[in-house]
Amino acid sequence: MAYVRGHALDYERWAEESGCSDWSYRHVLPYYRKLQRHSGEPSPYRGKDGPLAVGRRRTEVVRAINDAFVEAGVQAGYPHTEDMNGFQQEGFGPMDMTVDEKGARASTANCYLWPLLRPQTDEDRQAAERLTVATSGAVRRLLFDGSRAVGVEAEDAGGSVQQYFADAEVVLCAGAVGSPQLLMLSGIGDPDELREHGIDAWHALPDVGKNLQDHLEFYIQYLAKHTSLYPYAATFGGFGGLSRYLFRRPWNAVTSGAAWFLLGKGMSATNHFEVGGFIRSAPGKRHPDVQYHFIPGCVVGQLDFLPEHGYQAHCGTMRPTSRGTVKLASADPRAAPLIDPNFLATEEDIVDQRNAFKRTVEIMRQPAFEPFVLRPFSPDEAFDTSDDAAIDAWIRAHSHSGYHLSCTNAMGRVVDGQGKVIGFEGLR
Ligand SMILES: Cc1cc2nc3c(=O)[nH]c(=O)nc-3n(C[C@H](O)[C@H](O)[C@H](O)COP(=O)(O)OP(=O)(O)OC[C@H]3O[C@@H](n4cnc5c(N)ncnc54)[C@H](O)[C@@H]3O)c2cc1C
Repeated sequence: MAYVRGHALDYERWAEESGCSDWSYRHVLPYYRKLQRHSGEPSPYRGKDGPLAVGRRRTEVVRAINDAFVEAGVQAGYPHTEDMNGFQQEGFGPMDMTVDEKGARASTANCYLWPLLRPQTDEDRQAAERLTVATSGAVRRLLFDGSRAVGVEAEDAGGSVQQYFADAEVVLCAGAVGSPQLLMLSGIGDPDELREHGIDAWHALPDVGKNLQDHLEFYIQYLAKHTSLYPYAATFGGFGGLSRYLFRRPWNAVTSGAAWFLLGKGMSATNHFEVGGFIRSAPGKRHPDVQYHFIPGCVVGQLDFLPEHGYQAHCGTMRPTSRGTVKLASADPRAAPLIDPNFLATEEDIVDQRNAFKRTVEIMRQPAFEPFVLRPFSPDEAFDTSDDAAIDAWIRAHSHSGYHLSCTNAMGRVVDGQGKVIGFEGLR
């Protein structure tokens, strides 16, 4: 996955707005360094010995067009940055990714859990004795003794319900949807909303599930005249377009799979976000509020690529002011909660996205892309990129979640700066 830290001023703002001074940049940077094992040059911003592998990959076949994106950003007037997670986020340059030295994804499970399940050191062996991993079933609610959290109640895949008790603390880490859901199922939240579902609202924390934030993103896509960009692009047209989906150079998939298994290299050992950028959508923004991931292919929906050769800037604003909600649909723990991202609910967000769209089109029209560009794909050639109303409508029709849901148990309102739920002991 893409490894992207916040801007230093984001952490300063969090600390100021939430009153949690431990989250200022100078407090969080040592932890970022401690958890990281960066394969690049040492720097004051990088860790070298942590469990989380972070590095960079450059796929040769798409190096030229990736470089063209960085060059286009510079031609449009933005700086080059060699490390957007270091001193200077703003600008265009290479991106970090959580891929390890062997080309495997450095996920939380790979970095923290698997070493304990196959312990190699005495320290890991001791820790492993205290660890049990249960992968089936789900937690239904938290258990309390007064204001102290003492455990959880869980249902396994077969439907049997068990209670598990904690010696020290319950750490609730079920994500931005599951964590507020479990608090609400346990009677902690907005009393009026909980009563609607017949839940005994015994501890009022009205901000549980409120304040949902996410990144709204869109793709600006071009078809390319270059024919070596996307190794899985169709070999020929015909059969009413069906062949574009059928003949996708399967031998490239086989060779890239083999290169990954045998050498930890190649197309399967990268997340394909090898270059990107950060800019400000308009003058007056204190620090960058627009992020780019560049891909040498055109993504269709969320899961597929267009069979033609193409490229896209994946763009989104990063500090939306709209706030959504996670609410219970029912008191049944198995029922999915209701997620309302409430995107583009403020004029500021609409203007920021529109400016981000315009800046992106300017970048994608720079001379650096001349060797590659065939024609605009989305929006297409007929689209009037100076028409604000058309841009706003296009953004509403073509944007999607960046899957960065957060803030539903907000610091300063639901949890304190240490992540402890306000008003409770033993619950983080
Ligand atoms: C498609 C996609 C691409 C992404 N790409 C990137 C990227 O490139 N870079 C990046 O930094 N971020 C990326 N993200 C975002 C990133 O994955 C999340 O921000 C991150 O995983 C959040 O971590 P978390 O621990 O808070 O929650 P999660 O990772 O969601 O973990 C919560 C866990 O709790 C479990 N759970 C929930 N409810 C219960 C329950 N009742 N009982 C038991 N278990 C429960 C869930 O099954 C889940 O395993 C991406 C997300 C998606 C979906």
